[in-house]
Amino acid sequence: MRENNPGLSAAELEEWQAKIETANRNNIFCHCHSCDAEWVDSSFEADCIYCGSEDVEHISCWQFPDD
Ligand SMILES: [Zn+2]
Repeated sequence: MRENNPGLSAAELEEWQAKIETANRNNIFCHCHSCDAEWVDSSFEADCIYCGSEDVEHISCWQFPDD
């Protein structure tokens, strides 16, 4: 049985990008450089939830390698 895999259709691709966006919105990995706290937030603008410092590194979770 031969079946070509055409890849994602435009609609599927759109849906996939929306999921990435949603995941990105809700999974911002934050690392506070002041108190070394680590947490997951929903905003790239989030201050440290522990000490209130603005010196926070924000990383999208999907940027992490899977393994
Ligand atoms: Zn902090």
